[in-house]
Formats: sequence, structure tokens, C-alpha cells
Amino acid sequence: MSAEPAVQLRLLDLQALDSRLDQIEHRRRSLPALATIAEVESRLAALRDRIIAAETEVSDLERVLAKAESDVEQVRARSTKDQDLLLSGRVTSAKELESLQQEVASLARRQGDLEEDELEVMERLEEARAALGALTAERAGFTAQLDAAAAERDTAWAEGDRDREWVSGERATVLPDIPADLLTLYEKLRADHNGVGAAALRQRRCEGCRMELTPTDIGRIRDAAPDAVLRCEECRRILVRTPESGL
Ligand SMILES: [Zn+2]
Repeated sequence: MSAEPAVQLRLLDLQALDSRLDQIEHRRRSLPALATIAEVESRLAALRDRIIAAETEVSDLERVLAKAESDVEQVRARSTKDQDLLLSGRVTSAKELESLQQEVASLARRQGDLEEDELEVMERLEEARAALGALTAERAGFTAQLDAAAAERDTAWAEGDRDREWVSGERATVLPDIPADLLTLYEKLRADHNGVGAAALRQRRCEGCRMELTPTDIGRIRDAAPDAVLRCEECRRILVRTPESGL
């Protein structure tokens, strides 16, 4: 394969632009904000279940408390009714009066027990509400972290998009200068060799694999026609001669 020295140098320009596009893509994927987002999202997911459990506990206790309040209210109403009856003077039979007094006393005990239960439920409800409040505060903290990381990601990505657009524009101006057969070889080598298909020869060193060429290879390159497309003996990449090749 052969290509004018100027065309071969143009291939190095293409390689530089392709490497920049690869870097932009790599930065995009390895953004620290992405790791933060993944971590905070998994924490939020775990928190979601705990918040649902805490909310369920609060609503269950609210129901238990409402029932306890209504139980107390019923006993209190019954007791008030009995006491009104006692005070009304309408009950005159000693036996009935005694039975009524016994009922009032029994209702007072019952009310005391129920009020104790009610108080206990109120305390548990207060604790459950505090636990729920702590969890929702934790969620708010994570949500803020998530928003900040997403904003950071979006800014970096927008910057990457602008860079990519610019580099792609440059690449489009270089591409017509590269003959099809050279481009095909370059693309194949690029795919096989970690994104680098063409490398400059500088100071007797292949910039693709960083190996210094042997005197035999240097001699061979010196003798080669200027438009010959050379390959590095070590890494097989296209080796482009430059004014700094040290030949
Ligand atoms: Zn090499």
C-alpha cells in the first residue's frame, strides 16, 4: 500500500482526533458523578422500603389510638349517665342504688385501665412518628445529593457533547484526504489495537507501542520509498515518518 507523505501525516491528524473522541467517550462513562448517582440511588431504594414500613406503623398506631380514644369515650359517657341518674333522685330502691354505685366504681376502674392503654399507644405513636421523621430527613439528604450529582453529570455531559461536536467537525474535514484503502486498514488496526491504528515515528521510536526500532528496521525504513505505507514490526500499527523520526 502506498500514500503520499502528506496524506500519511493527515492520517496522524485523524488518529489524534479519534483519540480525542475516545477520551471524551471515556470521560463520559467514567464520570465520578455516575458512581455517586448509582450509590445514592441504591441507598434511596433501601430507604424507600424502611419509610413504607415506618408509615404503615404510624397509620396502624393512629388507628389503634382512635379506637382507644373511642373506648375511653364510651366508658366515660356511660359513667356520666349513671352518675346523672344517681344524682337525679329518680332511683329510690336501695338495691338499685347500690348496684348503680358499684357500676360507677367499676366503670371508673375500667376507664383508668383504658386511659393507661391510650397513653401507652400515644407514646408508641410519638416514637413511630419520630422514627419516620428521621427517615424522611435522611431521604431529603440523599435526594439533595442525587440532584447535585445529576446536575454535575449533566454539565459534564453537555461539555462533552460540545467537545465531541467540535472534534467531529474537524474529523469530517480530514476524512476526505484519506484514501479508502488506507482508511480501512487504519480502522481495522484501530479496532484491534486499543484505538490506535496509526503512530508517528519519533526519535526512532514507534509512538504506538513506545518501542525503539532496531538499527535494521531503521535502515529498512530509510531505504523505503517516501510514499510506502510502513508498519511497526513490533505492534503492526501504521508507522508514519515525521521530520523528527531520527532517520
Ligand atoms: Zn509500534
